Formats: sequence, structure tokens, C-alpha cells
Amino acid sequence: LYHLDECPNNCKKPLSGCHHLCGLKCGHTGACECKEACDVSTCAHGTCPAPCGEECPRCDMPCAIRCVHSQCSKKCYEPCDRFACDERCPLRLKCGCQCTGLCGEPCVPCRIHESHYYAGLPTKKTHDKRLYFLPCGHIHTVQDLDEAIGDLMTLLSRRRSLSVTVKCPKDGCDQIMTLENAPRYQLVIKQVIERRREAARQEYSAQPSLMKERDRDRLEDNMTGS
Ligand SMILES: [Zn+2]
Ligand SMILES: [Zn+2]
Ligand SMILES: [Zn+2]
Ligand SMILES: [Zn+2]
Ligand SMILES: [Zn+2]
Ligand SMILES: [Zn+2]
Ligand SMILES: [Zn+2]
Ligand SMILES: [Zn+2]
Repeated sequence: LYHLDECPNNCKKPLSGCHHLCGLKCGHTGACECKEACDVSTCAHGTCPAPCGEECPRCDMPCAIRCVHSQCSKKCYEPCDRFACDERCPLRLKCGCQCTGLCGEPCVPCRIHESHYYAGLPTKKTHDKRLYFLPCGHIHTVQDLDEAIGDLMTLLSRRRSLSVTVKCPKDGCDQIMTLENAPRYQLVIKQVIERRREAARQEYSAQPSLMKERDRDRLEDNMTGS
């Protein structure tokens, strides 16, 4: 048995504000806190430099979402001005078979040569359908994923304060969908990131006494530096 403050484990309670577990030491006093890095706002220009729950800086680079047919001309954080492409992916997979995914989206493993990805998926459901592959290894039909994302967008528009992450809809899967791994769904992903940014800003201004360490350091630097 460990004495409380010698317990080497973290509290690990699920947090309400994000999808992580509490990163404070087991038996800590006060509210639970997330100590993870932000993993929702990854784009072609890198991963978010902010800790989870803090305001994600906006990525001002030109949006990298494109396919051979069209290209977005907005900034990375703005909703795209290009429609997601519904054409079949023109690429050939390593095995030589044509990809069954969508143009401009992540390629989908081959049904014949990488069949383990299809275990548990009824052939009838996926045969002759456009498919979508997420890095967790789960394959969805584009139709199912479009529907799931559509439902999420409806929920978001009804509940203004709801904080969600866009995740693989497979039961129990925690894979976050990002601009990098799921560009087709940029609209909802960017909306969720904006909403988190807004929430972090509000929480921050509502509790001025909870000065974040970063700012305290900066303040001290300013005071001693002059
Ligand atoms: Zn978190
Ligand atoms: Zn970016
Ligand atoms: Zn972030
Ligand atoms: Zn295209
Ligand atoms: Zn764009
Ligand atoms: Zn193949
Ligand atoms: Zn492909
Ligand atoms: Zn998944």
C-alpha cells in the first residue's frame, strides 16, 4: 500500500470538458485537470501547440484541402469554399487494385489483398460502395459516415454550448477525425475547433483569478525584465 502522496498513479477520472482522463496525481485536491496535448486541431501544417482545453491558435496558412478536380482557396481555419469530391479515387493501391475510396480522401485498404480490415463488415453492405478509411483501421461506407456527421451537425446547431469531438462512429472507438485524416468532414471539424476555442476563451475570462501558469510567467518576465 502506498501513502496517498506516494501513489505513483494518476487520478485517471474521465473529464467532462474533453475526451481525456484526469492527469493529476491520484488523490489530488481540487478539480480534475487535463494534462494531455490538444489532439483535435491537427492539420497539414502540424499539430496544435496548445495543451488540451486551452485556446487553440488559429492556423492562418492556406487550406491544404484539395483533389485533382478542385482546390480550396480559404485559410486553413476557415470553412472550405470547395465541395468535397464525390468521384472515385483514381489511385492504385500497392497491390495494383484500384482504390475504393473517394478522390482526395485517404485511400482505403484493398478488400482482396488486405481483407483483415473487412472482418466483421458484411460484404453486402460494402460491396460496390464508396468507402472511407480512418487511421484506427475502421472502414465505413461514405453514406453511413455522411449520415453520422450530418446528425452531429444537427446536434451542434441545436445545442450551442455542446462541446464534442468528431470521432470514428464505430462503437467504443476513440479515433479523433481531423482535417488530415478526414478532410471530407472539414466543415464539422472546423466548427468543433472554433467552438472549443470559444469555450476556452469564455472559461478563461470568467475566472480571472485562475491565472494560467504561462501568463504568470510572462507577467513575472515583464516585471523583472524591465
Ligand atoms: Zn483533454
Ligand atoms: Zn493548417
Ligand atoms: Zn488545440
Ligand atoms: Zn476529385
Ligand atoms: Zn479549405
Ligand atoms: Zn488489391
Ligand atoms: Zn484512394
Ligand atoms: Zn474507429
